[in-house]
Amino acid sequence: MRILCVSDQVDPLVYSHRVKERYGDVDLVLAAGDLPMEYLGFISSMLNRPLLYVEGNHDLGRLAVSAQAYGRPEGHRLYAESFGAVDVGFTFVREEGLLILGLPGSMRYNRGPNQFTEFHMAFRLALLAPRLLWNRLVYGRAVDLVLTHAPPRGVHDRDDPCHRGFRCFRWLMRFAAPRWLVHGHVHLYDLADVRVSTAGATTVVNAFGHWIIETEEAP
Ligand SMILES: [Zn+2]
Repeated sequence: MRILCVSDQVDPLVYSHRVKERYGDVDLVLAAGDLPMEYLGFISSMLNRPLLYVEGNHDLGRLAVSAQAYGRPEGHRLYAESFGAVDVGFTFVREEGLLILGLPGSMRYNRGPNQFTEFHMAFRLALLAPRLLWNRLVYGRAVDLVLTHAPPRGVHDRDDPCHRGFRCFRWLMRFAAPRWLVHGHVHLYDLADVRVSTAGATTVVNAFGHWIIETEEAP
């Protein structure tokens, strides 16, 4: 299975007429936030694969513009769905045999949209705990892949309030042992910057730009 992950920056390798040659064989596309909806629409229609996304802290412009386009506040959702992309924020989905949980937003730093305090995010996670237990009973595992915008605390995060990771994501990794946690939000400026790390049973991937997850194992 090949999963194309994108985040934070429109990547010219993906936003290209050669996208089908390069990534036409992926099974699934995951977008970890802060990307223009038109870009997700382009990927979705060019590759014709399921595209799941979570919103980042900079998805505010899109909300305003698209809400205006539809003349109602919930417009952005219609706009998003019209592109074939599916918002998986605080939702479980089963796609291509994978149990996927989406967690949007970043640490709260200026009261903007899609920002959460550590407590608020932990509370939202606690509400999802019964579903994690249910999955463990029914599927034998709580979740395979967690798609977030922000990183976990201490893995790929920074010390400034905006880019600090969530401690409760560490708890989630210990409790639910997902195979992957895919995040964005932390921009990589240097090829030497760490993009992939291991934390317990979980491979943590910073999808900044784009990254391919390849796996032989069946879910
Ligand atoms: Zn961000």
